[in-house]
Formats: sequence, C-alpha cells, structure tokens
Amino acid sequence: MAKIQMKTPLVEMDGDEMTRVIWKMIKDVLILPHVDLKSEYYDLGLPYRNETNDQVTIDSANATKKYGVAVKCATITPNAARMPEYNLKEMWKSPNGTIRAMLDGTVFRAPILVEGINPYIPGWTKPITIARHAYGDVYKNTEMQVDAGCKAELVVTHPDGTETRELIHDFKTPGIIQGLHNIDKSIASFARACMNYALDQKQDLWFATKDTISKKYDHRFKDIFAEIYEKEYKEKFEAAGIEYFYTLIDDAVARVIRSNGGYIWACKNYDGDVMSDMVATAYGSLSMMTSVLVSPDGVYEYEAAHGTVQRHYYKYLKGEPTSTNPVATIFAWSGAFRKRGELDNIPELMDYADKLEQATIQTIKDGIMSGDLAALCTIPGKQVVGTEAFLAAIGERLDKLMA
Ligand code: NAP
Ligand code: MG
Repeated sequence: MAKIQMKTPLVEMDGDEMTRVIWKMIKDVLILPHVDLKSEYYDLGLPYRNETNDQVTIDSANATKKYGVAVKCATITPNAARMPEYNLKEMWKSPNGTIRAMLDGTVFRAPILVEGINPYIPGWTKPITIARHAYGDVYKNTEMQVDAGCKAELVVTHPDGTETRELIHDFKTPGIIQGLHNIDKSIASFARACMNYALDQKQDLWFATKDTISKKYDHRFKDIFAEIYEKEYKEKFEAAGIEYFYTLIDDAVARVIRSNGGYIWACKNYDGDVMSDMVATAYGSLSMMTSVLVSPDGVYEYEAAHGTVQRHYYKYLKGEPTSTNPVATIFAWSGAFRKRGELDNIPELMDYADKLEQATIQTIKDGIMSGDLAALCTIPGKQVVGTEAFLAAIGERLDKLMA
C-alpha cells in the first residue's frame, strides 16, 4: 500500500519523560507505516529548551501561526526540583503558557468515550467539551489584608488625572479585599473561539456566568458574547442547526448534570479550571481527555490533557514495566491529521485519522488496556498490558482497517 501523502507540514512539538517515549512509539507503530509524515519538528523537551534559552518554544508557536496546525507532546513545566535534575540555566516558563499567550487561544477539553468505561454520571452518553477562558479574573488578581478601621475603595485614574472612586467596604473589624480585571478584547476573542469551535464541531454552545450578582463584571461577558453572536454568528449557527444559549452558572450546573452531553460549555477562567476537573473526573480519567487550543484566527494546537507521567518514567528508566495510557496522545495526533486533511483537502488523511481513533477504541473494547483504564472498566476478561503491547494491539487493528 502506498503511504498517504501530505501537502502542508504539521508542526510537531516533542516533549518530555514518559510521554516523549510514547511519542516515538506512536510514530513508529501507528503513523509512519501509513503516512508519509511531513512535519516541521520542534524539540520542546526540557534539555533543548534550556539549550536554546526557550527560543525553540517561541519558534514552534510562530511555526504554528504560519502553518495552522500543531501537535504537542506533554512537557515539563520546571519547578525548583527540576533545576538540579536538568541543570537548568533558568526556571523556564510553562511552554503551554507561552504558546497560549502567542496564539491568543481558548482551550477546549473533551473526554474520549468508550463503551465499558463508564462515567460516574450514567446519563452522560456523549462528551461534554469545556471551553475555558484563559485570561484574567482571579488568575491576575491583587489582594490585600485590611486592618480594622480602614476604608477600602476602588480607584480608577483617568488619562487626564481625574479619579473615579467606589467604596468597597468600611472595615470596622479586620478583613480581606481582592481586585480583579479582564479586557474586552480578550473576552471577544474567547467568544469567537467558542463560536468557531461550535460551528466546527456542529455542537450547541452554552455560556454561563453570575451576571445577576455581578451586574457589571460578569454582565460584560454576557453582553460581549451576545453582541458577537448576533452580529457575526447567528445566521451561521442557524444554517448549521446549532444553538447558542446563555444561562446563569447555577442553572448551567443543574442542566449539565441532567444532560446527555454533546455540547460545548464555555466557562470563565475560574469556572473552567474547576469544572474541567469535575467533568474529567466524572468521565473517568485525565488520560482519556483531549485538549485543543484554538486561536480566534483559526489556528489549532492539539495535545493530551495530562502531563509527562513522571512517576511512570522513573520506573521506565529503572527498567521496570510500565502501563502508561497513550490514548489522549494518539487522539492529539488524529485530531491534527484530521484538521490538516480538512484544510488541505486530503480525504485519505481524514479517513486515516478516523481509523486510528477507531482502532484505539476497538482495542479497549476488546479488553486490552492500560492499568488506569482497567480500574474503571466493566468489560469482562479485561487484560492489563504494558504501553508497548497496548500500542502493538492498536497497530494490529489499524493495519486491518487500513488494508
Ligand atoms: P501527570 O503527568 O498528568 O501525572 C499524574 C498522575 O496521573 C500519574 O502519576 C498517573 O497516576 C496518572 N496519569 C496521568 N496520565 C496518565 C497516562 N497517560 N497513563 C496512565 N496514568 C496517567 O501530572 P504530574 O505528575 O503532576 O506532572 C508531571 C509533569 O508534567 C510535570 O513536570 C508537569 O509540569 C507536567 N505537565 C505538563 C502538562 C502539559 O504539557 N500539558 C500538563 C500537566 C502537567 P499513577 O502514578 O497513579 O499511575
Ligand atoms: Mg485545575
């Protein structure tokens, strides 16, 4: 069989530890036998980030802007312990943070569902995708402790030097205050990213805040979403047969629990942080969670939601058997191939992406899986295998589908 040809390179961002090991196995076993892989390779592994003073991360984000589609392996965000371990010149910033800031994106996280791996909420038969705004609010706050007898005010200084003031609280006893902000432009690009993604996925879009209580702050989010929807998206949504609707966050939570899934839930930064962990846990496992960063101008970066699985890597280095789940990383590749195929009009590449996912899910349905899945799985006669055997089993099924 001739290998599938690509037109535009995928931006390939390699990473660290166990996921770097899996990255190579996925390429060798599942990709290279079928696709004449055209990728522009960036090594975001910590040693090379350190060697290039993190320039490689910036270069990879620029390449993503240029080509439009990237696939990323999990990477270490250095902390104090990593400084001596990798002999680092600096505690480099999170590559995901750097890339997100450069692409101005929104992160969408969706679970991969397999029959026999049951969500804790039985009604959730379709995936719920969380879209998290990744700028501002409590993540860029200013906080103070306030002593008794102090008066706290919000002060805005205008360009001409005049001030607008509002009383926060007259403190008779000690307390605390917090200052938050967001920017219209960032909220607008969040809204567009969510609406584009809803059209792309042909799924309804829900958005919820607490605008009844936060009549200016949260209300601004609601208004910007509504304005952009009316002006730019209403007709496209109607043509696609999908819906945008806004509700209060408490109402949204109740509806989400009662729903069957199958929609995108846009969340403000903090809500998205908390709700994506809740949703991931309720569906089963972080290793079955995909993640894609979408920029307002339609650039896509696919990855797994989990980290580099450090604990397994240290076992792997000692030569001990590991059973790391490669599914989310495989789906990062399939997502990127499907998008590349769509943009370049290569139906065979889109078909390959479908089959890669199909082979992966079939392997689990056949009862072959990593240890983390076995713990959640009700499939009779299930068999826990190591990472290599799991990938080989997926490879066998993929070869048959591709033949
Ligand atoms: P992690 O790599 O997600 O792993 C945490 C634990 O979750 C693992 O020890 C393992 O549990 C389980 N797990 C996660 N993915 C799994 C998989 N594919 N298969 C089987 N089990 C899996 O998080 P971490 O240990 O907190 O972080 C390790 C490194 O990853 C850190 O340096 C962090 O900076 C980085 N990180 C990167 C990203 C990213 O690039 N997107 C995201 C998060 C973290 P058991 O040990 O119980 O088996
Ligand atoms: Mg969190």
